[in-house]
Amino acid sequence: MPESAVDPMWLVRLPHDWPGAPAWMSFSDLQNIETCPRRWSLSAASYPNIWSHRGYPPKIYLATLYGRILHGALELIVKSLNRASCSSVADESFVNVMRGLGGYTSIIQQAATDVLDKLNENPRFTPRSRYVVAELTRAAPTLCENLQVLIGKLRLGGAHFGVGAQQPRRSALNEGTYSEIQLRVAKMHWHGFVDRDLTLRSRQALAEIRKTPPRAVASMGNCTFCSVRQLCDEYWTDTTQELLAQEKSSASGSEARHLADLEVEIREQESPSIWRAVTLHGHALPPNSEVVLRIPAGDTMLRPLMSRGRCLRLVDASLIQQTDDEYSVPVVTLQRSSEVFVL
Ligand code: SF4
Repeated sequence: MPESAVDPMWLVRLPHDWPGAPAWMSFSDLQNIETCPRRWSLSAASYPNIWSHRGYPPKIYLATLYGRILHGALELIVKSLNRASCSSVADESFVNVMRGLGGYTSIIQQAATDVLDKLNENPRFTPRSRYVVAELTRAAPTLCENLQVLIGKLRLGGAHFGVGAQQPRRSALNEGTYSEIQLRVAKMHWHGFVDRDLTLRSRQALAEIRKTPPRAVASMGNCTFCSVRQLCDEYWTDTTQELLAQEKSSASGSEARHLADLEVEIREQESPSIWRAVTLHGHALPPNSEVVLRIPAGDTMLRPLMSRGRCLRLVDASLIQQTDDEYSVPVVTLQRSSEVFVL
């Protein structure tokens, strides 16, 4: 398949323009920019060749979807309970409200449908859609149980502000000069000075994302679940990969992941589903290591991309090192969560 025929979603191409400062800086934006300015910028830039939405299409993680479904279901229930002035499961009207919503199973199904409708706009979701739908269907009974537990603990009342309920009235500071405003949240043991700290941090963050390219802050914590790492040249350098290898070797067993990111160059084909390749970058194996790339049965996406000399970035691939035979070559297979990008 020539490069011109590859879906732009799977091409490693930097955005045409780096994004400007966010119109409104939220605290999560600030934290994201501070963590890795490059990651924020790559995620927030526009990619009109890929889709019409702002930002880079996010990677789909099942755990995130479960959280979104539960949140959606919870929001629907709390809004309905609020409308019926029902404060808890012990309230007489609770059963009627839930009956009106069709019961837990129906609520979870509706919330899952809403989440899937949004996902269908994400081109990164398309190759995994059948698998994700099957997994969500399988998880539905567990999500129903989780929802019941959450609803059982729910208490709505005058002083309670549930999901989707009206927020407490807060008002802006009057015009004037405030040298410092200290926030204290006793329950969290958290305090801070609003003006000096946030203004300075915000100024520094904006200065970071005005750089071209924005600074990349590589670490295992930052990069492991970075949704745009296939686009980040800094990530694929040998220096960064060595740093990540060191961090990984000192991570405890539960923290270390068994999936690997590898940049490879395709060599000769051995069979319809097996290709030889050589690694270019990736801390799981030294550069120039020979590997066997096994293409899953039924794959329709990867097979057309395979051609001698083509360079691919494999993200979240599975690497099997055959320790019983010192002459055998490591095997790279692709999981449901794996992605392949053409350089
Ligand atoms: S791969 Fe790492 S260094 Fe690159 S953008 Fe992502 S978090 Fe930042």
